[in-house]
Amino acid sequence: SPAPLWVFADQLGPHVHSSEEMVDRDVVIIESARALGRRRGHRQKAHLLLSGMRHLAEELGDRATYIRADTYREGLARVGRPVVVHEPTSRRAEAFVRRLADEGLVEEIVPTPTFALSRADFADWAGGKKAFLMENFYREQRRRFDILMDGENPVSGTWNLDAENREKPPKKRTTLGVPEPWWPEEDDIDAGVRKDLDAMDVDWSGEDGPRLFAVTAAEAASAMETFVATRLATFGPYEDAVMAADWTMSHSLLSVPFNLGVLHPLDAARAAEQAYRDGTAPLASVEGFVRQILGWREYVWHLYWHLGEDYMRTNALDADTPLPGWFQTLDAEEVTAACLSDALAGVHDRGWVHHIPRLMILGNHALQRGYDPRALTRWFTEHFVDGYEWVMPVNVFGMSQHADGGVIATKPYTSGGAYIDRMTDHCKGCAFDPKKRVGEDACPFTAGYWAFTHKHRERLAKNMRTRRAVSSMERLGDIDEIIEQERHRTSF
Ligand code: FAD
Repeated sequence: SPAPLWVFADQLGPHVHSSEEMVDRDVVIIESARALGRRRGHRQKAHLLLSGMRHLAEELGDRATYIRADTYREGLARVGRPVVVHEPTSRRAEAFVRRLADEGLVEEIVPTPTFALSRADFADWAGGKKAFLMENFYREQRRRFDILMDGENPVSGTWNLDAENREKPPKKRTTLGVPEPWWPEEDDIDAGVRKDLDAMDVDWSGEDGPRLFAVTAAEAASAMETFVATRLATFGPYEDAVMAADWTMSHSLLSVPFNLGVLHPLDAARAAEQAYRDGTAPLASVEGFVRQILGWREYVWHLYWHLGEDYMRTNALDADTPLPGWFQTLDAEEVTAACLSDALAGVHDRGWVHHIPRLMILGNHALQRGYDPRALTRWFTEHFVDGYEWVMPVNVFGMSQHADGGVIATKPYTSGGAYIDRMTDHCKGCAFDPKKRVGEDACPFTAGYWAFTHKHRERLAKNMRTRRAVSSMERLGDIDEIIEQERHRTSF
C-alpha cells in the first residue's frame, strides 16, 4: 500500500487528505504534547486544534491512526514506515520535516493544498519586486481563478468597491441587528479535549469557554453557508466599524476553519460569487469578502515565504518598549479607555476580535506606544485563536507596526480618538474624551497620535501621505505639553 499521509493540525480538510493522490492512503494524526506545550497561548486555541484533529480521526474511522506522543518524531517512529506530508505552514516546521526526510521518517514532501495559489506561481508573480501592492496581486488572483469576472473584465467594470464599505456604526442601535452566525454544538470529543487540557500542566492564556468556531469540514461548510445566506449582504458596509455590544457584527468567523485547513478559500470565494450572481448579496459586500480571502489572506501567506526570515529583523521605527504586564496578561480591568479595554477583554474571553479592533485599537495602541514589534508579533500569535506564524509578518510587523519601514504599507497605520469615535460606539461611555489632547481625561489615542507624529516627524514629513499630519502637529500650541504628558502616562 502507498505510504501513509501525515497531517499537521492545520491541514485537516478533504482537499488535504482526500485529493486524488491522497485518498487511497491511511492518514496519520499525531498529537504531540511537546508541540502543544511549546505553543502555549490561548486556552481556546489549544482546544480548537485538538478538537479539529480528534474530529478528523473520528470522521476517517479506520483510515486514520491517531497517535498521542511526547514528540512528533516519537509518533512517527510508532508508525513504523515512512510517511508523506504536505509542506507545513511555518519555516520552523518546514526545516523540521526536511530533517525528518533526511532521517528517512518522511518519504516525500508535497506542496500544501490549503491555499488557492501555489508558492511556485507566486514566485513567478513576485519576480524581483522589492515593494508589493496588494491591489495588483488581488486583481491577478481574480483573473487567474476567474472570480467575479466578465471575460477579461471585472464584473460591473470595477475591481475595488472599498469606498462603499466604510459606513459608521448605525446610530441609535447597539447591535447591527443581522442574523446570528452559525454556532457549533459541542460534543463528547470537545468534552474530552476540555478534560485533557485541564489535566495538562500548561500555563494557557485567556479564558476557557464554549467552542465558537468550526473545526471540521462539515461544520465549516455549515458556517460558510449560513454566512453567505444571511450575513454576507451586510459584510461590506460595516467592515470598518466596531460596536461594543456586537462582537461578531457581520464578519464571517471563518478564519479558524480556513487556518485549520478545513475550508478551502476558493470554495468560499465561489460561494460568495454565487450569492452575487443570484442577486442575494450586493457586489460591494461580495467583492469586499473575496478581496479578504483571495486577496489579503493569500498575499499574507505568500509574502511570509517570499520575504523570509530576514524580514522581521528590521525595526524601522526603533520601537523597543516592552509590552506592559496588563497587556501580556490580557487584563482588561486595568484599562480605562473603553475601546482598548473591550478589545483586550475580547482577546481574553474568546481569543478573537474582528479586524478593526486588531488594527485600529490594539495595533494602533502598540504603535503609538512603541511596543517592540517582535514581542507584539509573538503576542498576536499566542493569544488569537486564528494566530499562526505565517499570518504575522505582514499583518502585525508590516501593516500594523510599520516595523519594515514601508515594504508592505506606504504609511504607518495610526489614528487618534476622533477617528475611533467616528467608526465605533465606544467613546460615549468612556472616561476619556476623544477631543481632548491634554488633561486628566485626554484620550490616550488622541494624545498618542500627536506624540507619535512628533516622535517620527522627520520620517513622516518625507512621506507624501503623512506630511500634512506633521504640519498640523507643528501648529499645535500644546505639543510640548502633550509630549510631556504622554511620556509620563501610566494609565490607558
Ligand atoms: P472576515 O472579516 O469575515 O474576513 C474573511 C476572511 O478573510 C477571514 O476569515 C480571513 O481568513 C481573511 N482575511 C481578511 N483579512 C486578512 C488578513 N489581513 N490576513 C489574513 N487573512 C485575512 N488573521 C488570521 O487569520 N490570523 C491572525 O492571527 C490574524 N492576526 C491579525 C493581526 C492584526 C494586527 C491584523 C490587523 C489582522 C490580523 N488578521 C489575522 C486578519 C483578520 O483580522 C482576521 O483574519 C479576521 O479578523 C478573522 O475574522 P473573520 O474570519 O470573521 O474575518
